Amino acid sequence: MIQITRTTQPKEKPDQHALGFGKYYTDHMLIIDYTAGQGWHDARIVPFGPLPLHPAAVVLHYGMEIFEGLKAYRRPDGRVQLFRPIENVRRMNNSARRLSLPTMDESLGLEALTTFVELEQGWVPSLPGTSLYLRPFLYASEPNLALHAIQEATYVLIASPVASYFSGGLTPVSIMIEDEDVRAVRGGTGEAKCGGNYAAATRAGDRAEAKGYSQVLWLDGVERKYIEEVGAMNVMFKIAGEVVTPKLTGSILPGITRKSAIELLKSQGVQVSERLISAQELLEAAANGALEEAWGIGTAAIISPIGSLSYQGQDYAIHGGKIGPVAQKLYDDLSGIQWGLKEDTMGWTVPIPAQA
Ligand SMILES: *Cc1c(COP(=O)(O)O)cnc(C)c1O
Repeated sequence: MIQITRTTQPKEKPDQHALGFGKYYTDHMLIIDYTAGQGWHDARIVPFGPLPLHPAAVVLHYGMEIFEGLKAYRRPDGRVQLFRPIENVRRMNNSARRLSLPTMDESLGLEALTTFVELEQGWVPSLPGTSLYLRPFLYASEPNLALHAIQEATYVLIASPVASYFSGGLTPVSIMIEDEDVRAVRGGTGEAKCGGNYAAATRAGDRAEAKGYSQVLWLDGVERKYIEEVGAMNVMFKIAGEVVTPKLTGSILPGITRKSAIELLKSQGVQVSERLISAQELLEAAANGALEEAWGIGTAAIISPIGSLSYQGQDYAIHGGKIGPVAQKLYDDLSGIQWGLKEDTMGWTVPIPAQA
């Protein structure tokens, strides 16, 4: 049972044309406490506001935090739906296991998402491409400077109405292959969705931006040879007629959009191979024209076409710097299912009951 305490001061909804990303938050937040021996308890929805945090809380000193990201979409008929939320619940548990944080029953994780969205559904915007971004996160709230098995943790769910990632069509981005910093290593936390990965990745992203690129293409942390991800998204290519994506080796975040794209393409009879792709193979393919398309893939943008690739000062254009047909179709198909514009033949969407 999730106890609900409604706010007495509901906020005014923001202008849907100026939502941005993470600029506005809804009226409430959902909190669940964990105590060793007792498990998860006191699930509650309360008015949105600051969280109490002890200065010795483990998360502040040792970075024990994980998170998730998913969206609630408004369909043309006005109803609200989620896209494969159980996948986020399962991935959060996998992240929790890697960081020695407590896992949660899948039924409670799912109930938290659906109950919260049901209450906040008035905040799901309706302009094309807009959505309500859901951010569940979990951290070690226990005050203790001696790190050992976690006794106290906190799960929080907040939500932000967000704009379409690209206003005015899918704009291709320029990407730089990063050959200095690495995002993650096999055996590390690369396949966990944890804040620490982002902290370690920010420097390379900032440096790429200063040089005029949108993001970096990460290489593996051991040989610095194989492509892993682009910025904080998974990555896919069309090379010599075939769709290829780096296989999940342990240092790559297993994206739900990536997985959905692979399943959808296969259901349409398109061959997809998950394998190692070296930077050298990619640059050769870019130079001889075999690299037909490249795109980042994740919940925030769905598809982010890559228009050019740079390595050690040399730039290679991809598909004439424009989005290619495979990336465009994937965007249309996935976004169509997410916003209820296309029939969900895969059984991926979860409708939220209209408010009584
Ligand atoms: C969240 C995330 C992704 C994309 O995952 P989706 O489930 O598709 O949104 C990819 N890479 C990293 C590093 C991420 O944190």
